[in-house]
Amino acid sequence: MFPTFSLRYVNLPGHFYERFDPVPVKAPKLIAFNRVLAEELGFELESFNAERATQWFSGNEVPPGAEPLAMAYAGHQFGGFSPRLGDGRAVLLGEVIDQQSRLRDIQLKGAGRTPFSRGGDGRSPLGPVLREYLVSEAMHAMGIPATRALAAVTTGERVARRTLEPGGVLTRVASSHIRVGTFQYFAARSDIEGLRILADHVIERHYPELLDHADGERYLALLSAVQKRQAALVAKWMGVGFIHGVMNTDNTAISGETIDFGPCAFMEAYDPRQVFSSIDEGGRYAYGNQPGIIQWNLARLTETLLPLIDADQDKAIERATEVLKTYAGQYEAEWLTVMRAKLGLAQEEEGDRELVEALLEAMHAGRADFTLTFRQLCDVAESDQAQAALFKLFDPLEGIDAWLGRWRERLGRENDAFDVIAARMRAVNPAFIPRNHRVEEALSAAYEDNFEPFETLREVLSHPFDDQPGRGAYTLPAAPSEQVFRTFCGT
Ligand code: AMP
Ligand code: MG
Repeated sequence: MFPTFSLRYVNLPGHFYERFDPVPVKAPKLIAFNRVLAEELGFELESFNAERATQWFSGNEVPPGAEPLAMAYAGHQFGGFSPRLGDGRAVLLGEVIDQQSRLRDIQLKGAGRTPFSRGGDGRSPLGPVLREYLVSEAMHAMGIPATRALAAVTTGERVARRTLEPGGVLTRVASSHIRVGTFQYFAARSDIEGLRILADHVIERHYPELLDHADGERYLALLSAVQKRQAALVAKWMGVGFIHGVMNTDNTAISGETIDFGPCAFMEAYDPRQVFSSIDEGGRYAYGNQPGIIQWNLARLTETLLPLIDADQDKAIERATEVLKTYAGQYEAEWLTVMRAKLGLAQEEEGDRELVEALLEAMHAGRADFTLTFRQLCDVAESDQAQAALFKLFDPLEGIDAWLGRWRERLGRENDAFDVIAARMRAVNPAFIPRNHRVEEALSAAYEDNFEPFETLREVLSHPFDDQPGRGAYTLPAAPSEQVFRTFCGT
């Protein structure tokens, strides 16, 4: 029933990884299985055998054809460079070709100590497993590129963190797990040959359109292509109030998917300085810093590519700098595209940026809930009566009243009826996001062996843009007593 593996990474040179089988766990129980994704990957569900699946997704049994391995990578963590990180608690089972002929990695996270574990135990508590499950699937449902969650198991073992916690294993699916830090691993060893093999693998796998480029152009084009995808990705994050939390270079995927959902969270009251992660003491990865951090990470990627771009280092730097300089404009354009859509604007006008910024200022001043404000605006677009509910989100009210006047005037210059505008706004402004207190609630219940809140939340988040009757409570921000100020890393 496991789809046939079509192994790739294991066929790259031996120093790209360490062959490593997952370490079995004591008493695995399958607590979540993503049937829709499984079908997409080519699992035969008619013959689905939960017993067997539990063995596979816990790492107790290696599926037929898999050659498990831990990938080598390096990375800048909070600005400091580590030349050797690697999969310290994750094991890549291998790649499969999905129903749409796309290559997908299947990885177990929390699968035991690997040669890259350093001081760590190679395990994951159940909480981070479930958080990643919920948030990565929610991102996907919102149309944001992200790794996916195929399964979650409990291990029947305890892992020691601040307290003893139940252990879990997440089965994660990605278009690949290659990171900026993977490139840094080879660059740190001056392994130009390794870099070229990695870059060629990445081009073939994620950017096949670059195969036509002449040798001398291909790697510069790769930088440009990765930059474009990252700019588009972070603009989408900004559009839903997503805060990644640990944007280290080892947590930035070359494919342009959101990866490594650790202490991530969604902003409620709009504040560009918002940080949740307990380990982000300086606010390096605050909401408003994310576009700049991606640029910083791209600069680190650039450094690794220089020897491939031009044998003459000065020339390589000059050419790469030209690409990096286009980031700001690219990001701004992506962001404006996202924000225009959120405000129902299909036409482009000069003053649109300012209009968006004025709204954000009013939201900041009024501590308005990011998600609800935009969702309420969908209603306001077609009916003045919805205005009262919108105003309730702002305290103080200052600014939003005047702003609405400007927006209405601007909407009047769109060529569509107001109900049409409202409908297209609802298709991009989610009603349901993984609210932090709801995620915490699901995790706490799971720690008491009650997976119902997790299941319900998972179901609610799979239709983020629909009005879901009876689920109104899931649209609401935390009450003061439920507020989550800190999220803890997956480690
Ligand atoms: P992360 O914070 O999950 O992005 O991980 C950063 C680095 O630490 C990666 O190299 C991980 O493989 C490693 N790591 C995180 N948690 C553990 C753990 N419990 N045991 C071993 N290595 C870990
Ligand atoms: Mg990571």
